[in-house]
Amino acid sequence: MRFSFIDFFIASLSIALGAALTQFLISPSGDVLSIVLRVFVGGILYLSFTPLIYKHFHLKPLLFPKCPVCFNNHRHYQWTDKNWPSIIVKCSNCNSSIQLIFEKIDNSRQHDKTPTFLLRWPQSVGCRWEILMNNEFDDRKS
Ligand SMILES: [Zn+2]
Repeated sequence: MRFSFIDFFIASLSIALGAALTQFLISPSGDVLSIVLRVFVGGILYLSFTPLIYKHFHLKPLLFPKCPVCFNNHRHYQWTDKNWPSIIVKCSNCNSSIQLIFEKIDNSRQHDKTPTFLLRWPQSVGCRWEILMNNEFDDRKS
């Protein structure tokens, strides 16, 4: 999991805005339910607005997909190509190339011989990656 100062700042800002919004709408109280509600509203704000922020500023999501070749859980990649929104990375464990697509692109920019993942909502978290199959990757899996 990647978590930089910018990610921390955006998450903190979302929770603070959620807390402020909840306090504005509901009478202020310090009970546990009120605090949980504030964090919950902050989480909803985070999931609603941060995908747009991450897409606009080309920020990396918090989580990356598991390497489809070595299936190592470390999820550390070296960024070899930074041609947004389609980025080629190399697995730090097995050195395999993987293409990460952060938003829909035309098929001509998609590499034929590289396992490809498309980031799904919420783009700021990166918990949902759709694998786009290609012929060589299908051959390697079997
Ligand atoms: Zn790997």
